[in-house]
Amino acid sequence: MKSIKMVDLNGQYDAIKGELDIAMDSVLKTTSFINGPAVKEFQNNLQEYLNVKHVIPCANGTDALQLALMSLNLNPGDEIITSDFTFASTAEVVLLMGLKLKLVDINEETFNIDPLSIERAITSKTKAIIPVHLFGQTAEMEKIVEIAKLNNLKIIEDNAQALGATYTFNNGSIKKAGTIGDIGTTSFFPSKNLGAYGDGGAIYTDDDILAQKMRKFANHGMDKRYYHDLVGLNSRLDSIQAAILDVKLKYLDNYNERRRNSALRYSNNLKGINNVITPNIPFDPQSHVFHQYTLRILGSKRDLLAEYLTKNSIPFGIYYPVPLHNQKAYYSPEVDNKFFPVTNRAVNEVVSLPMHTELSNDQIDYISEKIIKFLN
Ligand SMILES: *Cc1c(COP(=O)(O)O)cnc(C)c1O
Repeated sequence: MKSIKMVDLNGQYDAIKGELDIAMDSVLKTTSFINGPAVKEFQNNLQEYLNVKHVIPCANGTDALQLALMSLNLNPGDEIITSDFTFASTAEVVLLMGLKLKLVDINEETFNIDPLSIERAITSKTKAIIPVHLFGQTAEMEKIVEIAKLNNLKIIEDNAQALGATYTFNNGSIKKAGTIGDIGTTSFFPSKNLGAYGDGGAIYTDDDILAQKMRKFANHGMDKRYYHDLVGLNSRLDSIQAAILDVKLKYLDNYNERRRNSALRYSNNLKGINNVITPNIPFDPQSHVFHQYTLRILGSKRDLLAEYLTKNSIPFGIYYPVPLHNQKAYYSPEVDNKFFPVTNRAVNEVVSLPMHTELSNDQIDYISEKIIKFLN
């Protein structure tokens, strides 16, 4: 058995090395490193894949979130609701923009933002909700869209972890994660489901006006070169990354399918084991693309299991060890710990197992056996 890795970028590269090398070479030959044709091509292909009108490539997933917020004409003090249990970027950009961060608790089964808690957090100053499709699983978008409509709020989907997942509405219509709200954002950080070989990100929307604004904000606030209408950012996806992503986009559905199969195998192996809760998929199987395969370990055994895995050279991740409301940078004295019972528990129970496109059945079975041995 090959040594187990949390993420196996080598294995994935080896499998499509020929194609990737040609793509990178062609950018090197043309030397159009910035805004070259590869960027436009990837943009068009991602638009088609997502079935959206506009994709705006940018430098990373954090910028994507910031650019989305910048386009919404918000004022200092306006309130943005997001999940207490996510990567820091989501909260960081809200505070960088001088907006008020309203963190809310999560759903126990999916780790995603809890619609009831969103409703409770809405005030007359609330302007937008940022649901995060955490670990690759879409949030409860049917409810969230309903709440947003009723309260006249914008939705920015942080889709950094769920590119390629779909969500099926009660009326049967199916949409790709990130294309349900007003704006979707994503990250091409190397370990994401569609990963570059460096930083990268994108924003997508069907709204022509928002698209035009975000494109402008990402380009120093200019449409016409050296005429700056707005104070913007320099946020670009470089051509080499675009060329790599364009090759890998063709494989994304297959990659996600492999992740899903690995997840099913883990869950099947770990079914009925004491003190283990395997991921729950309440919508449909396509609504989860398993950016992470995250278990909940009960009975105060998570940290002991983590030690045991380390001793047995099995990599794992704790995503995330601290709820955002307890992070030094985001702490606010008016926010009471008691509003986050589910997140507070999750940070002590979650453990994410190795998950990537190159995981073998032997490896999954080996990891599962060790976990069962420890917990039984
Ligand atoms: C990775 C990630 C981001 C940030 O992406 P970067 O490209 O690293 O800036 C934002 N939100 C979530 C939920 C993420 O997982």
